Formats: sequence, structure tokens, C-alpha cells
Amino acid sequence: MSSSEQHQAIVIGGSIAGMLAARVLANYFEQVMIVERDTFSLQPEARAGVSQSPHAHILLTQGYRIVSDLFPGIEEQLMAQGALEIDWLAECPVLFPSGWAPRLQSQIQSITCSRNLLEFTIRQQLSRIQNVHWLCASTVIQLVPDSCTAMLRGVLVKDAQGQMTPLLGDLIVDASGRSSPAPEWLKHIGYPPPEETIIDSGLGYASQYFRRPVDFSKDWKSLYVMAKAPDHPHIGALVQVEGNRWLTTLMGINRHYPPTDDAGFLDFARQLRSPIIFETIKDAEPLSTIHSYRATANRQRHYEAIKQGPGNFIGFGDSICAFNPVYGQGMTVAAQSAVTLDQCLKRQWMGGGGSIGPGFSRSFHRQLAAVVRTPWLMATGEDLRWPQTTGPQPDWITKMLQRYIDQIIRLNSRQSMVYQAFTEVIHMLNPPHSLFQPKIMMNVLAALCSRDPSCPNSVRTSR
Ligand SMILES: Cc1cc2nc3c(=O)[nH]c(=O)nc-3n(C[C@H](O)[C@H](O)[C@H](O)COP(=O)(O)OP(=O)(O)OC[C@H]3O[C@@H](n4cnc5c(N)ncnc54)[C@H](O)[C@@H]3O)c2cc1C
Repeated sequence: MSSSEQHQAIVIGGSIAGMLAARVLANYFEQVMIVERDTFSLQPEARAGVSQSPHAHILLTQGYRIVSDLFPGIEEQLMAQGALEIDWLAECPVLFPSGWAPRLQSQIQSITCSRNLLEFTIRQQLSRIQNVHWLCASTVIQLVPDSCTAMLRGVLVKDAQGQMTPLLGDLIVDASGRSSPAPEWLKHIGYPPPEETIIDSGLGYASQYFRRPVDFSKDWKSLYVMAKAPDHPHIGALVQVEGNRWLTTLMGINRHYPPTDDAGFLDFARQLRSPIIFETIKDAEPLSTIHSYRATANRQRHYEAIKQGPGNFIGFGDSICAFNPVYGQGMTVAAQSAVTLDQCLKRQWMGGGGSIGPGFSRSFHRQLAAVVRTPWLMATGEDLRWPQTTGPQPDWITKMLQRYIDQIIRLNSRQSMVYQAFTEVIHMLNPPHSLFQPKIMMNVLAALCSRDPSCPNSVRTSR
């Protein structure tokens, strides 16, 4: 490779994870090339490569904070395009299995907007970074190995005319999403593919946009009605987004898929544990068709366990760990992964004189495994409460934790302090062990000892 090639990073896939990775890589490499099979419109619009985009996407507070750090000024740009600020405790009533959560002012804040707007705005921000370039309408079809070292030389790219061109770089980042072909690519060039763990609760989505009436005056911006194992597998979310619209997403666990016809969709909403979403949308004007999505299994590829992979190839975003999306973790974990990438590159640059060494991939993947461990346990722990969920069953530690979390969830609808601490964990602001602080443990113990486990069920949809 020539010296200029030594300073190029290649990112496969220009969605949220790819762009966050590119933002960090731009600080370390002379050039960052994002190869994306789609082309982009000049408006925030859905595109074929991101079939999840018509569905509600919640950016958790931790993810929002990281994205705001990576792209200073993005908050203002999002708001200018119609995104709404939201205080998740004050402005999103949640119906837990035990009842409605209390509503209180908090710092657990982020934004609500469509996934299209969020991705579009990040792309606009990234376009200001001089050394980040795009190769659109181009699909990576293979990795190009180096014949002398355990490194890659680059990737093979196929353009819209079917022409194949090698693209050389000294770090290859796979951010091509949950159906990434990278394991096959690795196998093809003689490296072992990663082992996979899949835990599938059979969750299905259906989503539709509605017009929010201009005179609508309720004091919430989103609603969330949870399932209740084992008898109520239906979930509903309604999110106010730009353009004075509501995005309603209905979900069913264990293949209780929400219908995609208007009448069936409304009927499913009516059968949620609270009729509030049905009441809100029943007379509202639909602004889109109903889109469905079913590939929601938790899927982790264990790159961290590969001993002999190419030293300059890393997985990133959903390609390495895709979660059941109902927990809203994917974009925030991608943001946390960008922070990890930054830390690893900083260390590498300090120790290795500004180049990627053969041990980089292993060391990054090990650190990333630590980042995804907690969200993975949280998502799969919840999914495994449902008897039909497939995949490795929880060990006794997870089962004990589930029991403890059951009590926390039970207390959520009664105790603001517990609810706040729980939501901080969900938004990845605090680690799960923060739920074991003495104040909370005392409450859990008191609830366990109490002879009256019943919880209030009154609908707290106003403060
Ligand atoms: C229904 C649903 C709802 C979700 N809701 C939430 C939520 O509320 N909150 C949240 O944080 N996350 C949510 N997620 C997850 C979130 O969408 C992803 O975590 C996030 O988009 C990051 O994914 P990614 O960038 O790794 O991959 P993707 O977004 O899937 O993008 C992959 C990109 O790679 C491109 N590509 C693929 N193959 C190639 C190739 N060979 N060559 C070139 N380009 C290629 C694609 O065109 C695409 O642009 C949801 C996911 C789903 C499915």
C-alpha cells in the first residue's frame, strides 16, 4: 500500500452507526470513506437500506448526550427541523405491568423525531467534516486480504453499473447492520467467522403516522403501554414527531403480530392494556400506510472470541450486536461504541505511532463486548420472561436479577425515587448495580415483606 492508503479508514454502511464511527475516525485518519449501497435524498426520507425507518425510534438520554458531544449544535438543528425536546419522566406516561408510573420533572431528556430526520441531520452534520467522504450506490461485496500479513488490504466494491473496484484502507469498519454478510466474507478469505448468540422473542412491529390535531392539548408528548407476561403480549407506543404528527407503533411478542390493515391496527390498539392510544388515534387522520417489521431477534456476534481475525477489521453497531428494538437501545449502544472506538484509537495512536497494529481488532472487540454486555442482559433478560422465546435460557444469576427487577418494576408505579433510578438505568445513564443502592433495596425488601402486593392502576396520563 502507498503511504496515502495507510491513512484511510473505510466504513461499510452509512447509517447511524457508520456515521458515528466515521465522526470519530475523522480525528485519526487522513481520509474516511463511507461506502453505502443506497443513495440519499435531499430531504429526510425513508430509503431501502434501512427498512426499520418507518418505526418509532427512541434516542435514549445517554445516546443523545453522546451524539450532541460528537456533533456540537445538532440539538438546535434537530429542533429547527421540528424535533421536540422531551422529559421522559414528565412527558411520557408509561403503563407498567403494575400500573401507571408517576410523572415528575427530570433530567432524563432527549428528543423525539422520526428516524429519517435523525439520520438526515447527523448526515448533514457529518458533511461538514472535511475528511469524511461518501461512496454511494456502492456495495461492498468482499474483503481484500493482505497475502503477507494477518491484515486486510481493503474491500471490493460493486457500483450501480456492476463494476467492481478494490478500495484500499488500513482500518475496515463493518457497520452494515443486523444482516451484515461480514461472517461470510471472513470465511471466504480463510478467517473463522464469529460465533453467534440469538435470542428471539418473536416480536413484530406495525407502525403508522397520524396527523396530530392542532387543538390537541394533552400535556404529554409520548405514550407507552407495556406488555405483561405471560398473558398480555401486546405493546403500544405513540410518539409525537416533527410535522405535527404522531407515530404509532404497535408490537406483539411471541408472534402476536399486529395487523397491517387499518381496522385490524385500530383493533389491536384497542386491546392494549390501556385504551389510551386507541382513544388518541381512533379519529385522527392517517398520514401513511401501515409498515410492518419482524426481524427483531437479539443477535450478538462474538468477534471478541476470535483469536485469529484480521487485525484491522472491526464490527460496529447492529452488525456486531443487534437488540430486540423494543428496548430502544441500538442507537445509544452505537453511540457508546463510538466513544469506545475513540478510546481505543487514542491508545493505539499513543502507543503505535499513528497506525493500526495487528492487535487492534481483538482489543477493540473485547472492549466493545464490555459495552454491549449490560444492554444485552437487560434486553434478553426481559425477552426470556416469555416462555416461547427461543435461545439459551437464563442462568440462575439472571433469574435472581429478574426477580429483583420484577420488584423494582412493581414499585415503579408507586415510588418516584425508584422509578427515576430505574429509568436512569434504562436510558444507560447509570449501571444496573445502581438499583442495588441501600435506599432502593430497603424499598424492595419492604415490598417483598408486605402482604399487599397490589399496585394502583389508576391512569396517570396527566401530572
Ligand atoms: C423496528 C426497529 C425499531 C428500532 N427502534 C429503535 C429505537 O427506538 N431506538 C434505538 O436506539 N434503536 C432502535 N432500533 C435499532 C436502530 O435502528 C439501529 O441500532 C441503528 O440504526 C444502528 O444500526 P446500524 O447503523 O448498525 O445499521 P442499519 O441502520 O441497519 O444500517 C446499515 C447500513 O448499511 C448499509 N449497507 C448494508 N450492507 C451494505 C454493503 N454491503 N455495502 C454498503 N452498504 C451497506 C445499508 O444500506 C444501511 O445504510 C430499531 C430497529 C428496528 C429494526
